[in-house]
Amino acid sequence: MLGRRPPEPNTEDPSRAASARNALRAGSTFRLTVSFMLVVVLAFLTVESWRTWRDYRAAFASARDSVTNLARATAQHAEDTIRQMDVLTAALSERIEGDGLQNLDVPRIHKLLVQQSKIMPQLHGLFIYGADGQWIVTDKEVTPETANNADRDYFQYHRSHDDRQVRIGDVVESRSTHDLIIPVSRRLNNPDGSFAGVLLGTVKVSYFVDYYGDFRIDDKGALVLARRDGTILVRRPFIASVIGKSLANSEIFKVYLPNANAGIAQVRAVVDDTERLYGYRALTTYPLVVEAGLSRDSIIEPWQQDLLKNGFVLVFLILVLSGFGLVVLHQLRQRMAMEREIRYAHQTMRDMALTDSLTGLGNRRRLDNALMDEIRLARRQGSALSLIMLDVDHFKRYNDQYGHAAGDDCLSAVGQAIQQAVKRPSDLAVRYGGEEFTVLLPNTDNAGAIQVTEDILQAIRALKLEHAGHPLGYVTASAGITTWHPVDDTVTPATLLKAADTCLYQAKQQGRNRWCSQGKQPDIAVMS
Ligand code: GH3
Ligand code: MG
Ligand code: MG
Repeated sequence: MLGRRPPEPNTEDPSRAASARNALRAGSTFRLTVSFMLVVVLAFLTVESWRTWRDYRAAFASARDSVTNLARATAQHAEDTIRQMDVLTAALSERIEGDGLQNLDVPRIHKLLVQQSKIMPQLHGLFIYGADGQWIVTDKEVTPETANNADRDYFQYHRSHDDRQVRIGDVVESRSTHDLIIPVSRRLNNPDGSFAGVLLGTVKVSYFVDYYGDFRIDDKGALVLARRDGTILVRRPFIASVIGKSLANSEIFKVYLPNANAGIAQVRAVVDDTERLYGYRALTTYPLVVEAGLSRDSIIEPWQQDLLKNGFVLVFLILVLSGFGLVVLHQLRQRMAMEREIRYAHQTMRDMALTDSLTGLGNRRRLDNALMDEIRLARRQGSALSLIMLDVDHFKRYNDQYGHAAGDDCLSAVGQAIQQAVKRPSDLAVRYGGEEFTVLLPNTDNAGAIQVTEDILQAIRALKLEHAGHPLGYVTASAGITTWHPVDDTVTPATLLKAADTCLYQAKQQGRNRWCSQGKQPDIAVMS
């Protein structure tokens, strides 16, 4: 008979839509607050992480500059020291060889050596040895006549090699003063080119140790002077047992130096297993290498302390912010809960205001609210709208017979019967007033409305409520039906109600317990 009605918009109750909008707004405010807090915390963390990373890089950049400068300064110092020895021994050897070792004016040369040793602070001693290793002349006051250095490494080297370069030897302990010294030696030739002896200048290890001690580096920092083959000559911190050890297997000598004469390397030291950032530099004129290292600990320690301090401040800030945020969220939640309660109470009151307390059906106000909306909707959808007006027959007599309280019970039972006979969710049954009921049937044509009316009247009869004042002996009702089609544009709630009421009046006139529809009469008035 009729199609299903599409779900209608909640036009009946605009405040319900408003409260839904409020709930939505409160929900999104809550989400916005949480998001804002997260964004702020994330921003804090990002900025702080970036700052920390920048400081870390800056610490290493500054350490790189430091070790580069240190390596450059120590390399320059070593080069100057050895070059002075080189120049001095070159001049002396020229003179000795010119005079001939056999014709040497020993007192004059001794005086010269003493003079030189006085003006060169690095100089430990100057020695001239004959071809057999015998001491010929030195800068010392007494030259022991029996002393012989033929066993020394540098002596044996020069005896067997005819190169004229200055040679830097391993650190040895001086036979005369027991100081640690670096021998810088040169071969002396006879006019025919044969081996005549050795000219030796010795450099005090303490001269380097003192110089290295003047640098301000951390306790775990290191300064190293080594031969190009890796043998350590001087080291700060100075440990006697380390002198002479080889660095040939260290990463700098094995990996870095073969590729570049100078650079920076972060490696673990073979001597003391400490991780350092090293600046290294191989001298170009002499086979020497310097290394200047700052311990990794000393580089990152200030940064770590800074990180710890900033970390505390950051955690504190985040905690304060979170606490503040939690308070705001708590208040927001409370507000939302309060709003929910108010909405609920408001809704309950509205429901109560629109409900008939005796029957539980809607009341006349509910019908008034719905009618206008349903007329508008029917007009928009081009669908029929039917209205049934029901009135209990001879109800005055019922009251008179059974009392008002029984009358109320009767009305309640009739209300329930009507509600049960109405099937669609969109149908609206209300108690219009007194013993009158109205049923609004959206999207229902006249035939459908008649069908529903017959069902309702039958349901009331089926209650078989005793009614001694009724000709039939039980409670019945009469109905007036009106159906409106949108082609008629003049309809209003009042005209619709009036039309149904007129039909109801006709049904009463025709003997009650029946319906009467606008323009249509029942074929048979059902009386039993
Ligand atoms: P008709 O068949 O023509 O409708 O006769 P009727 O007696 O039902 O009509 P009438 O309008 O004369 O009487 C209606 C009566 O319904 C009057 C009143 O006592 C009774 N009534 C109205 N409201 C209530 C109510 O809430 N409770 C009870 N118990 N009676 C009510
Ligand atoms: Mg009446
Ligand atoms: Mg009546």
